Amino acid sequence: MVELKTVIEETYLKVKNIDDKGELASYIPELSNVDFNKFGVHISTIDNFNFGIGDCYDKFSIQSIAKVLSLTLAYSLLGEQIWERLGIEPSGTSFNSLVQLESDKGIPRNPFVNSGAIVISDILLSNLENPKEDFLSFVRGISGNSGLKYSSKISSSEKAVGYRNTALCNLIKSFGNIENEPSDVLDFYFDLCSLEMNCKDLSELFLFLANNGYKSGGNGSILTKSQSKRINALMQTCGFYDESGEFAFKVGLPGKSGVGGGIIAIHPNKYTIAVWSPKLNEKGNSCKGMRFLEEFTTKTELSIF
Ligand code: GLN
Repeated sequence: MVELKTVIEETYLKVKNIDDKGELASYIPELSNVDFNKFGVHISTIDNFNFGIGDCYDKFSIQSIAKVLSLTLAYSLLGEQIWERLGIEPSGTSFNSLVQLESDKGIPRNPFVNSGAIVISDILLSNLENPKEDFLSFVRGISGNSGLKYSSKISSSEKAVGYRNTALCNLIKSFGNIENEPSDVLDFYFDLCSLEMNCKDLSELFLFLANNGYKSGGNGSILTKSQSKRINALMQTCGFYDESGEFAFKVGLPGKSGVGGGIIAIHPNKYTIAVWSPKLNEKGNSCKGMRFLEEFTTKTELSIF
């Protein structure tokens, strides 16, 4: 695995110095306090090679990356019936868009746009006894890191200005596709978006999606093989909103971004790689994160295509 290490080191140095024209996600006020020079990368392979560089041990807000984890929990609890409440098609719109919901009668296009993640939050609220605690234990259980936490600073900062997500949730509720009180659904949604972890935590946590739904080390199935394949398929087609095509074209891996500047990418049966750099492009995806992964899969020729 010396080669992977060398490619990561070289690519890291090259991408670190590019002129990053991106901007912080200032629509969540607390996220504009993050040091925009941070840049970390961590890879974990299914045969136990781990390597990180830069700020890979600094915690950050994983934001929409958490949507993969809430989907995983809902899918593992309820199976295929979740697809009665939301779709599996790319939206071709921004992550917080309202437009399609009206014509789609409150059925979100997929679980990774905000509307879809809000419906998944509603499903979890209806099916978990203590939703926030249970979700956190689920995530800690997969990662083996009992120190993972929500950030109340981030969630309250987002809650204070979450008018668009409130509009999404109310619109879906008006079509009858939200069972609980919108304020409770949003409270849970903002908390899960505020989960904090570092690149090492992220790459280790997501290994189950490179490992056919099994926890790393092989014991403990989180999803069936088919469910794991399907979540990877959704990450490939919808993980970067209206930039999912570009990510597939340039990087060639299933992945998921968050407006905290993190990206997790998965090579099924091989590895997971987490990248964090807070400046975002106009689609809300990390500029350096995307650039790093493009160079990485090009140099290693390790993409799924
Ligand atoms: N919490 C953010 C929001 O709802 C998540 C968006 C993202 O990371 N793309 O706007």
